[in-house]
Amino acid sequence: MTRVLVVEDDPQLVRALVINLEARRYDVDAAPDGATALRFAAARQPDVVLLDLGLPDIDGVDVIKALRGWTRVPILVLSARQASDEKVSALDAGADDYVTKPFSMDELLARLRAAVRRTEDVAPAPERLVETEHFSIDLIAKKAVRDGRDVRLTPTEWHLLEILVTNPGRLITQTYLLQEVWGVSQRNKSNYLRVYMAQLRRKLERDPSHPRYLITEPGMGYRFEG
Ligand code: CA
Repeated sequence: MTRVLVVEDDPQLVRALVINLEARRYDVDAAPDGATALRFAAARQPDVVLLDLGLPDIDGVDVIKALRGWTRVPILVLSARQASDEKVSALDAGADDYVTKPFSMDELLARLRAAVRRTEDVAPAPERLVETEHFSIDLIAKKAVRDGRDVRLTPTEWHLLEILVTNPGRLITQTYLLQEVWGVSQRNKSNYLRVYMAQLRRKLERDPSHPRYLITEPGMGYRFEG
């Protein structure tokens, strides 16, 4: 089932969207503001986001920027504004498409299907093996091998590593990693991350104090360089 996150502060429009989407067997979460949207996006991992740009708390464009810090989920912008620079800044920030309000439900649904289809088309088959010069990670067998020897990883280390290596080259924020691995209530505990990243480097990097693969982006998060 395709999961849609609807971010919209107009309750009537939300109701119409929820009814129409659920009738077509989408699984729908609705957030009335940007902060709730960001929380739901992390907790519920939607397949597509419908985002109103005019939200009561955070500007919709900033919601897009925050989402793009860690996810490529398709974002379809609902814009009441005629001004095209609004749409341009939404697209520049990483939105995939937009519809201008008032829109027909049929058009919106067609664009929604197209946005989801595009990600399905481009999404590569899940990579089974991640290989570097020094170690390899088998994501299906859940095995790490370094210099021909199995590396033992704890479930927490594995979870963390898996998120990083399946997003090569991409900065993954501390908050996202903490939420994913330890849960929302622990998202301020950046010391956990430092400890576990140090362990992973000891186990996988040739020179853990000068990591080549598990890179820290100070104050931001971590990145796997494949
Ligand atoms: Ca609005």
